[in-house]
Order: sequence, then C-alpha cells, then structure tokens
Amino acid sequence: MNKAFPGVMRKLIEEFGRMPGIGVRSAQRLAFYVLQSSREDVASLTNSIREVKDNVRFCGVCNNLSEGELCSICSDPSRDRSKICVVEGPSGVIAMEKGGVYRGVYHILLGALSPIDGVGPDELKIGELVRRVKKEDVSEVIIATDFTTEGETTALYLSEVLKPFNVKISRLARGVPAGAVLEYADVATLQRAFEERRGV
Ligand SMILES: [Zn+2]
Repeated sequence: MNKAFPGVMRKLIEEFGRMPGIGVRSAQRLAFYVLQSSREDVASLTNSIREVKDNVRFCGVCNNLSEGELCSICSDPSRDRSKICVVEGPSGVIAMEKGGVYRGVYHILLGALSPIDGVGPDELKIGELVRRVKKEDVSEVIIATDFTTEGETTALYLSEVLKPFNVKISRLARGVPAGAVLEYADVATLQRAFEERRGV
C-alpha cells in the first residue's frame, strides 16, 4: 500500500480491505469517501455500525437477524410451526417472505457446505436444525438452499440427516434456474418453486 498515506489512512484502508468483496482499490475509494464526508455523515455511519453490533443478533431459535431473543417470525403466533423452511442466510428469508405464500417458520444455516472452502456440517447450524426436528412437532422441512453447487450439496446432505425422522422433506422445485441464488429469484418464480416443491 502507498506509504505516502498517513498511518491512520492506511489503517482504515486495511480495515475496509478485510470486508467481503472489497479489494485494495475499493478499500482506498471508501477511505477517501470517508475523508471527504462531513463530520455528521461519518458520525452517522459509525453510529450505525455500533448500533447494529450492539442491538442486532441471531434469533435463538432460527438464526434469523433479530433485535430481541426471538426474531419477528418466531415470535409471531400466527406462523405455522409445523413447517420449517431451510435457507442459507437471512436474505433467503427475505426472498421467501416476498413471495408471500409461505406461512411456516424458518431455519437459517448461516452458510452452505463447501468442502473446498473448509465449510463442513459443523460450521453450519445443521445440528440445531436436527434438534428442532427431533424436539418440536415438525411435519415438513422445506429445503430452500440456493441452486448452486454448494446449495445442492447442502440440500442432499440435509435430506440424508433428516431421513431417520418422521418428517416430510421437500425441495423447492426447479423453477429457479440452476446456479441461481434464492435472493435474486423473482417473486413469481419463487412462488411457483414453492408450490411445486417435491418430496426428496
Ligand atoms: Zn427466529
């Protein structure tokens, strides 16, 4: 990195550079953006970061983002607790909710299996899902992981570990094209994929 930058500037670029998807050039651009912003804007940004860290956590049941012990879906008494829809991340919940056809609850894995990246079952919230299926009165688990290699691998693995339990296991239909990430699927496609879900 350019040694001509003051130390604190280099430090900020380094911090931004650790963020996902941010390379050195983007990190420098963000640091210059901060430098040129007003004091108020910078205060608002740092406050937002602190508030997220202080107030947002993972739901104690489903791992969705939450401001309390339970997320808004787990604490909604009108949701059907006998159905659990499994997604990779909180953005999967947002995608499914946009469809508006699903009234059950969720389980967020916080990732997908990826042996190349060293992500195995223990790195994901799979044990917690199995415990929920064992303990709660669950009739159906709908696997809505992405239609990527990692998502498909995860779906296959989940259908294996859930097989011993007396629960219907289904996978979203392939209305969503191969390689597609749930988050970017349009509402109609997602609704159809949900309605045409198949047992696995
Ligand atoms: Zn929850």
